[in-house]
This record gives sequence, C-alpha cells and structure tokens, in this order.
Amino acid sequence: MDAASDNKSALKSALGDKARQFISRPRQMLINGQWVEALSGKTFQTLDPATGSVITEISEGDAADIDRAVKAARAAYEDSPWATMTPSARERLLHRVADLIEENADELAELEALDNGKNKAIARAVDIQVAIETFRYMAGWPSKITGDVLPLSVPFAPDQKFFGYTLREPVGVVGQIIPWNFPLLMCAWKMAPALASGCTIVLKPAEETPLTALRLGELICEAGFPDGVVNIVPGFGHTAGAALTAHEEVDKIAFTGSTEVGKIIAKAAADTMKNVSLELGGKSPAIIMPDADLDVAIPGAASAIFFNQGQVCCAGSRLFVPDQHYDRVLEGLADNASTLRIGPGLDPENMINPLVSETQLNRVMNYIDIGRREGASVIAGGRRRGETGYFVEPTILADTHRDMTVVREEIFGPVLCVQRYNDVNEVIRMANDTIYGLGASLWTRDVGNIINIVPKIKAGTVWVNCHNILDVAMPFGGFKQSGYGRELGKEVLELYTHTKSVCIMA
Ligand code: ADP
Repeated sequence: MDAASDNKSALKSALGDKARQFISRPRQMLINGQWVEALSGKTFQTLDPATGSVITEISEGDAADIDRAVKAARAAYEDSPWATMTPSARERLLHRVADLIEENADELAELEALDNGKNKAIARAVDIQVAIETFRYMAGWPSKITGDVLPLSVPFAPDQKFFGYTLREPVGVVGQIIPWNFPLLMCAWKMAPALASGCTIVLKPAEETPLTALRLGELICEAGFPDGVVNIVPGFGHTAGAALTAHEEVDKIAFTGSTEVGKIIAKAAADTMKNVSLELGGKSPAIIMPDADLDVAIPGAASAIFFNQGQVCCAGSRLFVPDQHYDRVLEGLADNASTLRIGPGLDPENMINPLVSETQLNRVMNYIDIGRREGASVIAGGRRRGETGYFVEPTILADTHRDMTVVREEIFGPVLCVQRYNDVNEVIRMANDTIYGLGASLWTRDVGNIINIVPKIKAGTVWVNCHNILDVAMPFGGFKQSGYGRELGKEVLELYTHTKSVCIMA
C-alpha cells in the first residue's frame, strides 16, 4: 500500500459506521425536499485537510441550481403548509432538529473533524453542542415574536378614531452564505433564527466543508419540514454564491466570511435592494492589564489565538502586554505553544490540527514570512509541520508594531502578534487601531478597569478574563469593517423579520 492509501484507510478506521457510510457515496444538493444532482452534472471534491486526500464528490451547484432552489423557497414561502403553520408547530419542528442533531452528534463531529480538520472531541463539545443549543434557543421564539399596539393621535383628523398596530413579519426568502471554520455551527446560527422567524432558506455552504451542512439537510427532511423551506446548494462563491446574492427573488442575504467578500456581497445585493447582514473578519485585541492574574491571562491569551488553529473571526490575534510583564508572558506563551500536540483532528489528543486547505496553509505561511521580514521575532513555531496535510505550528511573533502587515491584516491562522505597552490610554488607542471591530478581551482583576475601559473599546463583543466565549443568548457581530447586524440573542430576529404598520379607521 502506498502512503496515500495508508492514510486513507487509517482515516476511515477513525470514523464510525455512520460517518463512513455518509462519505461512501457522492453527495447531492437539497432542493424542494429532494436530493438532486446539479443541472450541469458537475461535481467537486472535498478534501481531508490532514492528508490532502479526497473524501468524496459533491454536486456542484451554479446559477441554474440556485435559481431552482430560490423558486422552491419562494413557493414554500408564499403557499405551503409552512406559510400557514402556527408558531407552536414551527417551534416543535425546530426542537425536532435539535433532537436529531443530538442523536447524531458523534457522526456529525466526525464528519466535521474529517472535512474541516478540527479536533473531533472539540467539534462534539463546541460546534455540535452549540448548534443544538442554537436550535433549542431559537425554537422558543416563534410564539414570542410580537408587534405593538400604537397610541395614535393623527393631528389632521382629530375627530376620527384610528387603531394602529405593528406586525413583525418574516422577511421572506433568505440566502445564507457561510464559511468553512465552523461549518455546522454556522448553519445553525443562520438557519435556526430564519426558520424561527418564518422565512424560507437557500443556504450555500463553503466549498471546502460541505459535508455537515448536507447531513443537516437530511436531518431537516427527517424532522418533517415542508418541501422547499430549507434548500442547500453546495458550490463555489463566484458562481453559486454570486448567483444567490444577485437573485431577484431573494429578499435577504446573511453572510459570514471575509471582509473582502462581504464588500462584494454588499455591493451586489444593493442592485436589488436586498436586506444584508454581514459577519466579517477581525483582528481582535487581547489586552493584559498590569493587575491581571497572569496564571489565567497567559493560557487564556494562548487559547484565544490557537483555538480552531486561529481560524476564528474573533480570534485574539493581537496581544498587548505591559512592559513589566512582557518577558514572563512571552515565556509562558512559548511554553504553552510547545505543549500543544500537532496532528489530525480525528485523534482528540491533537490540539493543533491542520488548516482547512492548501490555500489557507500558503496564506498563513506567507504571513509568517512577511512578519519575519518586517522584523518580528519568532519566539515559537513559525514553520509548517510535516509534508502531508496543512499543519502549521502555533506561532508567536514578538516585538511587533502597528505598521507591520501581520498586525494590520487578518491572518486567520495560529499566529499571535505581541505588542508591548506602558500606558493604559496608549493601549486603548493601540487596541482600536484597526479597521476591524469584532471582539476584544481585557484581562484584569480591577472592576474599575472594566467599567472605564470596556466602553472605550470599539468592538461588538468585549470579554473580560476570557475570550471566544459565545453564547446563543448573547448577540454577536461587528463594529467597523467587521460587518453589520447582530446574530444570536433576541437581536437576531431583527435580521429575519420586518415591521408592518397597520392603521384602521374606526
Ligand atoms: P474565507 O476567506 O474564509 O474562505 P470567503 O469570504 O472567501 O471566506 O468565503 C466565505 C463564503 O463566501 C464561502 O461560502 C464562499 O464560497 C462564499 N463566497 C466567496 N466569494 C463569493 C462571492 N463573490 N459571492 C458570494 N459568495 C462568495
């Protein structure tokens, strides 16, 4: 047996029967409740990032498939059992999806680890569990989405009685475009609130990681959603994604991905005046205050960047350390990085797993080289690991400063840029000195620091003594070029419903 087939059989033996079965045949797209081939007959391959080998073939949707998916979603929205379903029936369906994800959680975690590369145990505990919680939380909303009764006093008709109220209605057919870093979780974040609001969906998963979205599609069919309510069309961004964004019958686009693509989408969606929400890139600061508990802050800062190989939009990729703690923090971070075992995610002992693709590997290695050339000191990692798969060592770049490319641009990999500071006002300025504003963390034991500094940080989420903690009850989204709109919490209902004012003359 050659090395590639060795790898393949090792990998398959790490999978349970159900996951093995799921990848044993080409996967199709879900349109109008049916699993169908692309009209073009085309397929693309999805790869195992730990080995670079092909997992399976996927039907490749393009504009024609998007068109039939949108038509199915439109028909389901306008005229189907979904259109007249009671809120409590919608709630039961959403709960059923949560239960089915839970029943199939191990299989989904394996598929996620296989397709994305991430640690299987972490996928189970974080990605899959949070997806379950998201469907459960959103299942509570349908019966609680209400309008208001309005106290009208129409000045030009003082003798007439009017009765005014608002309805909160679903926005309609929603196009959802998601990235590859948390494939199933992003499906849940997007689908659950849209369904809770009564919308119908065409979702395009990332081309790198279509598997769990397609498995979720099966579970959604099993849950009993009417045909056409959820359509899933795998394919590429410039074809399927662009067609979804441009389609006249789509009322709203919800996008998570890079700021660069977010701008393309916002511009394209403007042509048809679609409502758009964007959850984009970040370069999130983690600020260690002079009074911080370093035993908490050092491992916390390491996990803020190394979790999911740094492929997290709110990763703590810029660390600010006060002069007096600089050496100790660097030493602690380097120690931490050296303890993280590197290897495939299907072995849960491996804490640093491959990046999602060769493109991503090259991009991250290129940034590390640029960092070196610009004068950063590599105090941990800095190299690719092995020649098979897309592994990059957890990397710490010290002595970085604001003008360096690695400090200004999102790397989306396990690369931390450390900057030193000696004044609190200075560090707030440094933390905000970015085009992004997604997350930030403050590491301190002083409640005065929390009260004074949190309002000055320009970011959609500020964590204190933690980082990357996301909860379905807590709205999530960006300031500045990290996007607009808030996902999760009750705020997300704003994205998927709109207000209709009603005025009745008595
Ligand atoms: P990343 O840089 O993390 O790969 P992208 O922003 O490129 O993220 O991709 C996120 C999602 O956006 C993917 O599903 C991708 O296919 C899609 N996408 C990429 N380009 C476009 C585009 N021009 N129009 C619509 N969707 C796109």
